[in-house]
Amino acid sequence: MTDKRVAAAERLAAHPAWIELDKAALVANLNEVRLRIGDGVQVIASVKANAYGHGIVPVARALAASGVDMLATGSFGEAMAIRDAGITTPVLMLAGALPSAMETLGNHDLIPTVFNQETADSAAGLGGRPTAVFVKVDCGLGRVGVTLDQAFRFIAQLAARPEIDVAGIYTHLSFKDAASMVWAKERLGLFYALVRDLKAAGIDPPVTQALASSALLIGWRDDLSAVCPGHVLYGLSPVVGDLAGIAPFRPVLRAIKARVIHIGDHSAGPVPGSGGYHRLRQGRRTAVVPCGLNDGYRPARPGQSAAVLCQSRRLAVLGVSLEHLTFDVPDDLELSLGDTVVLAGSDGPESISLAELAAWQGTTPATALVTLGAGLPVLDSY
Ligand SMILES: *Cc1c(COP(=O)(O)O)cnc(C)c1O
Repeated sequence: MTDKRVAAAERLAAHPAWIELDKAALVANLNEVRLRIGDGVQVIASVKANAYGHGIVPVARALAASGVDMLATGSFGEAMAIRDAGITTPVLMLAGALPSAMETLGNHDLIPTVFNQETADSAAGLGGRPTAVFVKVDCGLGRVGVTLDQAFRFIAQLAARPEIDVAGIYTHLSFKDAASMVWAKERLGLFYALVRDLKAAGIDPPVTQALASSALLIGWRDDLSAVCPGHVLYGLSPVVGDLAGIAPFRPVLRAIKARVIHIGDHSAGPVPGSGGYHRLRQGRRTAVVPCGLNDGYRPARPGQSAAVLCQSRRLAVLGVSLEHLTFDVPDDLELSLGDTVVLAGSDGPESISLAELAAWQGTTPATALVTLGAGLPVLDSY
């Protein structure tokens, strides 16, 4: 056992709540993307937001082992975690740094994105060599990037500087429904025109990229050299309604689990005047797992009721507090300290999907998991 494993085992004994991944599904989803884009197109895997809550290191490791061309993240800490794990796949830093950070990114072998004059100037000539940078173009999302009307001039000026190597140009145009799909298609056309104009001017960066999950889900392809999917790699859908089903992409979240740390026997009845969980419980017993707000588990919205699975049964969640989740224990259920409870995933014939959990919380599956992934450890093997 390595020191790291001992530390993880100690952490789990002290705080038994965790996330389990289906890494085979992750690899299958990557291969499905490859199938859709055809040979010769690179996959830049978006692992931002702690790999959409799935755990940056296990996800990056599995993608790297499957030969993904590049990893993209917005988080410097997560980029460093990738490098500390010994993963040598190129890492693109999606826009999100101050000019003063460019040198740090370069020192750690991370590819900076430049999106204004200041980031470009600070990135130029790091380490006495031409700095490989990606340029982000804002085609209308209205977030980060050089605007489309300024992009040609900006990129042409960068390409002319010997201390800068324009290694990539990309944009991001995700869409949720049919109306925004039509809009995204129109804006994408303008990005393709920019790439053509640059090429005609002799500027032809090795990486050009515009398509993300929503486009790949509905089967779009283009002539650029790379795609940058996030959601679909994890089996999450960025679109709503009937625009496209997520199949054949599979959920990478296998389960969220926790162990029972306390069983309360309330046979003697509540203390007079007390409220709390006594008014809510059906049985005489309640049980607690250490997965509360601090672990990213949000309480159900008014009118919704959450459940957990134990011994293939659905048990009602009575309450979620800062560090605890308390649930009802039916009188006929034999429950012991340390028993495993499923907060999401399958247990015999019963299952709680991430979508169901998110619906209780009044949020999207991706939002629910980013929050849970920030609080819970991801087990690498089980
Ligand atoms: C997040 C992001 C992606 C991935 O988007 P998904 O919709 O999750 O596939 C691609 N490109 C850029 C620039 C991004 O920021």
